[in-house]
Amino acid sequence: MSYLVLARKWRPGRFCEVVGQDHAVSALQNSLSSKNFHHAYLFTGTRGIGKTSIARILAKALNCKNLIDSSEPCNSCDSCLSINEGAAIDFIEIDAASRRGIEDTKSLLETISYLPSSSKYKIYLIDEVHMLTPESFNALLKNLEEPPPHVIFMFATTEHKKILPTIISRCLQINLSSVSLKTISNQLDVIFSEEKIKFDKNSIDLIAEVAQGSIRDALSISEKVISFCNRDLKEKEVRKVIGIPEPEIVSSLLKSILEENVSDSLSILENYGEYEDHEYLLKSLMDLVQNIAISQFENKTSKKNIYDDFLKTDPNKLQFLYQLGLSNLKHFSLGYDSFSILKMTILKMVAFSSESQKKKYLKIKEKESVEINWPKIFDRLNINGISRKLLKQASVLQQQNELRLSFPENVLSILNKNQKYDIEKSFIDYFKKEFIFIYDNNVDYLLTPENEEKNKDKGFKKNIKKTMEKDDTYKEIIGGLKVESVKFDKKNET
Ligand SMILES: [Zn+2]
Repeated sequence: MSYLVLARKWRPGRFCEVVGQDHAVSALQNSLSSKNFHHAYLFTGTRGIGKTSIARILAKALNCKNLIDSSEPCNSCDSCLSINEGAAIDFIEIDAASRRGIEDTKSLLETISYLPSSSKYKIYLIDEVHMLTPESFNALLKNLEEPPPHVIFMFATTEHKKILPTIISRCLQINLSSVSLKTISNQLDVIFSEEKIKFDKNSIDLIAEVAQGSIRDALSISEKVISFCNRDLKEKEVRKVIGIPEPEIVSSLLKSILEENVSDSLSILENYGEYEDHEYLLKSLMDLVQNIAISQFENKTSKKNIYDDFLKTDPNKLQFLYQLGLSNLKHFSLGYDSFSILKMTILKMVAFSSESQKKKYLKIKEKESVEINWPKIFDRLNINGISRKLLKQASVLQQQNELRLSFPENVLSILNKNQKYDIEKSFIDYFKKEFIFIYDNNVDYLLTPENEEKNKDKGFKKNIKKTMEKDDTYKEIIGGLKVESVKFDKKNET
């Protein structure tokens, strides 16, 4: 059995089969029954939650010849069947990731003036629409302003913030949410029972947990697990296949860190080495730290819980470990050996977890803010485009291994993951060392490169004046002028 078979077999073909998107589905069904159609729909949400599946169902419903209950496609008329088979002439599906250029878009848009061949509407579904070039967006915009009545556009995207507001304002936006763990787990229960696959409840919960809100990911992981476990899923084996560490591994790792026991920490990691997902182990460790911190805060007098052993840990230390983990997580996407990244992170945690070290660190931090010539460093950073423009408005303070980047509030609120990545990489490359990056809006405008540039002209003139004032010839001339003017004034008086 391949992933495609399972995913295709269980891909929803009707609104009633869509899982975990009730509000979006009922909004679409209401608009169908009231015949209140839009000429452009924008489906947004993270990957694998059913954007294109729902768009396809909507396309079928719009062109269906025997609509059921005025809002469900019949899946048996010519139009429904041709869309299901991927052979519909009047339903054109494009992946903008591979056809993003203006020529592709132009040749697509040339076809919109032709009437649909056998259906009511000609429907264009553009997936990952944020990938289109600005020229393509402009061409599209013209057609969105006054589309022919027989044309309906559907766009799907994981990154709606990259889409021009002028496009968004012309679409009916349908936001799909991540699917809850419980819903995914229930859906897997239904599918596995139907497919006659044996499983225990914990194993499907584990798959649902790793899928992180995506039904498609849940099915793809299931495919792997089903074949490894020979259609009989048991928690222990499933953990092994998908690389989820046993809770005991995570808690003993944390214990070794808090006890500053390097050799224990490393041997736990070595034993864990046979599993693949090192990033997941770090995330699990951070989850544990977070849960302990919350337990400390919430119910000190409550009944026993699994974090009891750790409840007396210094809350500051937990905060510190969490922050250290967070700042190291991003390294996993850089393509280095993930096991080394994990080991180095854990070693850092042990080192900084030590009370004496931490005190030393905090002491240095209190005393020393390292003076850096920020505007000068900014000029030398290897960073371009919008990220550079944003960073130009920041002031930067270095405190040991911490870089505090302060942005004006309006910049801070729009700063995205990619821009932060560019910024952090440029500092790490420049200083050739790691930092913990902290973002805030306590910006000192006097220290921003942008302000420095504005003042450059002013400063330049001031400097010329200063230098000239020191010059003897200048003094002589000015002195002479003063004497002359005094004489002149006196002459006038008499
Ligand atoms: Zn139909």
